[in-house]
Amino acid sequence: VGEQVTLAWRPAAASWAQRERIAQILGLPLSEQNGKMIGVIYVFRELRAAHFQTADLDVLNIFARQATTTIQQARLASAMLAERRRLESMQSSFVSIVSHELQTPVSIIKGYAGTLARPDGPWSRDTVIRIAHTIEDECDRLYRLISDLLDISRIQAGRVAMSIGPVDLPDLAETLAERSRPRSSIHQFATDFPPDFPIIRGDREKLRQALGNLVDNAIKYSPSGGTITLGGRAEREHVVLYVRDTGIGIPREEQARVFERFHRVDTRLSRSTQGVGLGLYICRVIVEAHGGQIWVESDGPDRGSTFYIRLPR
Ligand code: ADP
Repeated sequence: VGEQVTLAWRPAAASWAQRERIAQILGLPLSEQNGKMIGVIYVFRELRAAHFQTADLDVLNIFARQATTTIQQARLASAMLAERRRLESMQSSFVSIVSHELQTPVSIIKGYAGTLARPDGPWSRDTVIRIAHTIEDECDRLYRLISDLLDISRIQAGRVAMSIGPVDLPDLAETLAERSRPRSSIHQFATDFPPDFPIIRGDREKLRQALGNLVDNAIKYSPSGGTITLGGRAEREHVVLYVRDTGIGIPREEQARVFERFHRVDTRLSRSTQGVGLGLYICRVIVEAHGGQIWVESDGPDRGSTFYIRLPR
């Protein structure tokens, strides 16, 4: 009858119905608008009661629809509450992570500066150079973190200013690969673009920052080395860039969330790696400001990751 469900009568169910003197059972499906069933309400009619009438079925169907809406609203409210709790906990862990990330380089710089300043320290030239390089690296780390935080505050204030012009992406990728080679002796850097790859219009500096973040991550999250490839292909209305590594990979259920603010996949490596979970969020904002999309594909842990960016031509 209408939206009623037909029940399969198994012998056990039949004898139960007989014992309980049940003459009729109606199953009212609780179906969402997309057809997905979220539950069923069963209505029983005793032997001695009157048969279900069409009017009863109409009332029961209205009730089922209202129950469906109520369940959907309750689920939505509970999902929103869970999301709010998740964001609140992210915000508070963000403060502690950022403080820790700021504190570590500052303590290292202070320690080394103190060492250099010791009056009894007859430091060799090599030692002084090594210490100076460490101080330089730690200053770079501080600079990167502070730039990320400034980017975030600009994004939050809705001030992502774009400076649009022609961008030669294969050239940009080659420059990035070149810049990355001295930074790691265990990684190889390759580029892979077809010869007729088009010049697109975009903000060269911001796209360099987005691709640079992806390459930095590819290095960080491939601790055993391997080849990091920056490539691209042209489609009719878009270009698709990719950065591929052979590192720790990303579980499927985390692949969308890594682009959220402060989100880090909880692995032994990420716990011991510098980072606050802002790089990919900044990439996403840059790509979306270009009218593009960013996503990641990975076959899971230790199977490498490929980040894709699609931009309009
Ligand atoms: P951060 O590296 O500072 O943690 P990101 O926003 O750049 O922040 O990345 C978010 C998280 O995504 C990282 O913490 C890491 O868990 C995961 N991730 C990013 N890039 C890769 C990659 N190439 N391979 C594996 N995991 C990655």
